[in-house]
Amino acid sequence: MKKKLSLEPASRIKHLPPYLFASIDKMKQKAIEKDTDLIDLSIGDPDIPTPSPIINAMKKAVTKPANHRYPSYEGMFSFREAVSAWYKKRFGAKLDPHTEVLSLIGSKEGIGHIPLAFINPGDTVLVPSPGYPVYSTGTLFAGGKSYIMPLKEENDFLPDFDLIPEKVLSNTKLIFINYPNNPTSATVPINFYKEVVTIALKYNIIVCHDASYTEIYYDKKPLSFMQTPGAKEVGIEFHSLSKTYNMTGWRIGFAVGNRDVLAGLGKVKTNLDSGVFQAIQEAAVAALNLDNGVLSTIRKTYRGRRDILYNGLKKLGVHTIKPKATFYIWAKVPSNFTSMGFVTHLLDKAGVLATPGNGFGDEGEGYIRFALTAPAKRIREAVDRIQRIL
Ligand SMILES: *Cc1c(COP(=O)(O)O)cnc(C)c1O
Repeated sequence: MKKKLSLEPASRIKHLPPYLFASIDKMKQKAIEKDTDLIDLSIGDPDIPTPSPIINAMKKAVTKPANHRYPSYEGMFSFREAVSAWYKKRFGAKLDPHTEVLSLIGSKEGIGHIPLAFINPGDTVLVPSPGYPVYSTGTLFAGGKSYIMPLKEENDFLPDFDLIPEKVLSNTKLIFINYPNNPTSATVPINFYKEVVTIALKYNIIVCHDASYTEIYYDKKPLSFMQTPGAKEVGIEFHSLSKTYNMTGWRIGFAVGNRDVLAGLGKVKTNLDSGVFQAIQEAAVAALNLDNGVLSTIRKTYRGRRDILYNGLKKLGVHTIKPKATFYIWAKVPSNFTSMGFVTHLLDKAGVLATPGNGFGDEGEGYIRFALTAPAKRIREAVDRIQRIL
């Protein structure tokens, strides 16, 4: 008798592109074993702790027996009401908490699942490159085909819809967009969203806007897609407490907008998960009700870090895009390097870890991404070290 199974992964797993971040993790482990004093600017995970009013709300909520039971699938009504009130206050957008708000176990969960609700094998999904990798893996898992929309610096990192063939648009079921953008830090004017609504209506395309970074900004407040006339007719917006409130580990996010699209996503979810721990939802309500002072302090911290790294890299002659939002800096690698080559060089010679741009898709090749998720002192040290090796 055989003592071992011969395991054959499903083709949807085998066809995944190589996960660059896993190899970066290995490089990082090696550096740590060599006792490198590593300055890690590679991951988009805030180093600042969750604000204490949120933690206190969680402490209280976790003692309530009612919160120990299965939560409702669509989220507690109090949470959905708090999201709706927050959208009204922040964006002036009206959302019915009964049908136009859905809780998510982090926005990644919703982004990964939405293609399962609307994509049949062979359907096309428009996906930005560089971009958050989950847009294309979610598409792949549903059997869909990603059509890459390159985000070029000369076009302010906006997709150029005129370049997409008519034939592709007619077969397109869904589009992912994300502003303020990870990894390029680009923001968009309202006219771009208006163009998206027009195209969506013309070709019958569901719009999925990822708005994770609207609260991390340095000049004008970024817009929500939901502020665009007609947005609710064509799509939904994913949002998250992760980046705004330093809550990446808590796993809570939400989607808002078109009720039928949300119902489709909800149908997938009711068959796969059982909602967000209610104590976390209560803590999230406390977060959404925080006064603006907490967020402006967080923004001030990132602004200080951004200025140090942006000015430092610029002085060194590195071509760098000055972020108007997000906690990322997108920089061109020197012309004699690939993205991965430069990341390795920075790690080996300077003990500074960044993310290679091609980890976000082929169009990211030639760039690297720094995350401003380390204290100012360490970022200053990183600039000094980079200066020594360039
Ligand atoms: C971090 C991030 C997310 C996922 O955030 P969650 O923690 O799952 O809410 C989604 N989209 C982008 C662009 C991100 O950077």
